[in-house]
Amino acid sequence: MSRDDEARYGRACLLVLNVCPLTLRQVIDDYFLHHAGSLSLCDFLEKNKHTLFHLYAKKCCCKQLQQNRSTPMCKSQWDSLFMQNTSSCKKGKNIDCPCKYDCKSGITTKVMDVTLCCLVINKICHGIDVNHIKTIREIRNNLIHAESARLDVLTFNGYMNRVKTAICQLAKNVSTTLHTDTVKMISELENRLMDPVELRELRNLIIDQKRFTELEVVRMGLL
Ligand SMILES: [Zn+2]
Ligand SMILES: [Zn+2]
Repeated sequence: MSRDDEARYGRACLLVLNVCPLTLRQVIDDYFLHHAGSLSLCDFLEKNKHTLFHLYAKKCCCKQLQQNRSTPMCKSQWDSLFMQNTSSCKKGKNIDCPCKYDCKSGITTKVMDVTLCCLVINKICHGIDVNHIKTIREIRNNLIHAESARLDVLTFNGYMNRVKTAICQLAKNVSTTLHTDTVKMISELENRLMDPVELRELRNLIIDQKRFTELEVVRMGLL
């Protein structure tokens, strides 16, 4: 029985960490291509650099010091999108600020993991139903912070159905093709056998993500 519990946990993690980002990246691609004035991803990120910066850091050279807000983007996520340029801030302030960064050239949504996809959609892709994103994030967090790497049938079915509804609806709003592809990926996953080696690898990945999240929380002074 416990092996089944472990396999269910594994499948749920694969759905959220591996399958969801494949679809979410295409949701973002569709957004900046068709709903943000045919921009490239780089132009789109540049245009929203200030907003994104404040998801990562509280202070910048702008007047608002957003001290009471939490910063949901971690340094490695910011660094996956932007790199420091050689120019200094136009206002001459000696603090980290968006003026000192440029979007990485040749960037694609492939660098975005599920958390970063959710953040980007939530904060800078307007008009996409954020409730679906909330569902995916919530279940991702439940899985990462679960006490044990096991899921009973009831919890597993609940998670799978909720994520499936959310991700399929997001896909459907982009295109029939994306919807069909997403449904196919999920049904393959639902019938997938999980071998012990794969489960062990997955567990290590989760432990890393968890440790990483905790480190980031400490860094941000949120603890
Ligand atoms: Zn600012
Ligand atoms: Zn500046």
